[in-house]
Amino acid sequence: MTQSQSPPNNMLAEDLSNVDFSGAECSEIRAALLGWYRVYRRELPWRGIQDPYLIWVSEIMLQQTQVATVLEYYLRWVERFPTVESLAGATLDEVLELWAGLGYYRRARFLHESSQDVVARMGGRLPRSAAQLRKLKGIGPYTAGAIASIAFGQLEPVVDGNVERVLARLRAVRGDAKSGALQKLWWRLAARLLDPEFPGDFNQAMMELGATVCTPQNPNCPECPLRRVCHAYQRGAAADYPAPAKRAAQRPVRVRSLVITRDVPGEDVAQAHREFLLIRRPLDGIWGGLWEFATVEVSARAADSKVFEDLRAYVDNRFALKIPSAAQVQRIGGFVHHFSHIKMSIEADFWHAGSPVSETPKGGGEAGAPAHRWVRASALDAVAMSAAMRKILALYRAIA
Ligand code: SF4
Repeated sequence: MTQSQSPPNNMLAEDLSNVDFSGAECSEIRAALLGWYRVYRRELPWRGIQDPYLIWVSEIMLQQTQVATVLEYYLRWVERFPTVESLAGATLDEVLELWAGLGYYRRARFLHESSQDVVARMGGRLPRSAAQLRKLKGIGPYTAGAIASIAFGQLEPVVDGNVERVLARLRAVRGDAKSGALQKLWWRLAARLLDPEFPGDFNQAMMELGATVCTPQNPNCPECPLRRVCHAYQRGAAADYPAPAKRAAQRPVRVRSLVITRDVPGEDVAQAHREFLLIRRPLDGIWGGLWEFATVEVSARAADSKVFEDLRAYVDNRFALKIPSAAQVQRIGGFVHHFSHIKMSIEADFWHAGSPVSETPKGGGEAGAPAHRWVRASALDAVAMSAAMRKILALYRAIA
């Protein structure tokens, strides 16, 4: 097989070593792709900038999140934390408040921790090499390659889902794109193709092509600048490569949340106000570090009475708050919240604990942070909460 011939479908691992681009193909792909990118790229606020910190922020936000969603978050972030020093000086709560709704909260926590590392150990300057960047928490091979090539012009390739798909189609490679053998292939091919003069633009162009033209379904091959060298296109079966994605089954999870309020009397009527009990989630796991209403995970088949007892025991054990009976608790609604790997059925209730409540906190938060707090109704909207907890709050407000 010459380098420019199409390899057969379902190649064995040893066949993958033959998959390559000829020198002429590399030149053609670089020229065609960069020419296309300069004309057709979407104008996005993180395009055309060279500030390593802002490129880092945009790349972390864009992981597993659509551009349209990231736009608003990125602009707010840049306004609030325009420099790595401003981020490093913020509290985790301030960071999570700004990130709330974007999901995958570990990204925000690592970004925050690493910004403190950059300020404390590196004088506020991000390292220029991908190898050094990877030593920062939350920066993997993709993000390191993106920052090094875009901000510093280093010859570092990037491979994300878009790049994998474009490469698989250019060489008509079928298989599980995330398998170890194919990951090795993608990184090798991406490095081979990388434009030595404009590595940052080239990397962005590959990702842009995958996001806007070489899309998972219905790739727009007639408009593609690479169709002349694309084996999948020549076979008339672009969408068959690399392979139909297998969707992992979602694990069903059932949770019960309880909105707990108390009234706090003031010196006069005008100062009286209502507060809500919020609990900080553990830093690791779903919604790590965000605030939530009292929430327990329950068995999918548990009877309502058992679920109530679990919730009552949790509230009593953790906050020494005694819910007198199930009759005191009012149902406010339920809904299903989807994660990529979890289907979470959420039922929510409301209990007004009266006024005032003298509860004894049990257990502390992580790293000295409070594990729970009472928050005024007027301050709730500024608290870092997940989209699911916001929905519960909306349900509560609809009945309150
Ligand atoms: Fe993707 Fe079609 Fe372009 Fe090939 S020709 S890279 S399949 S859009």
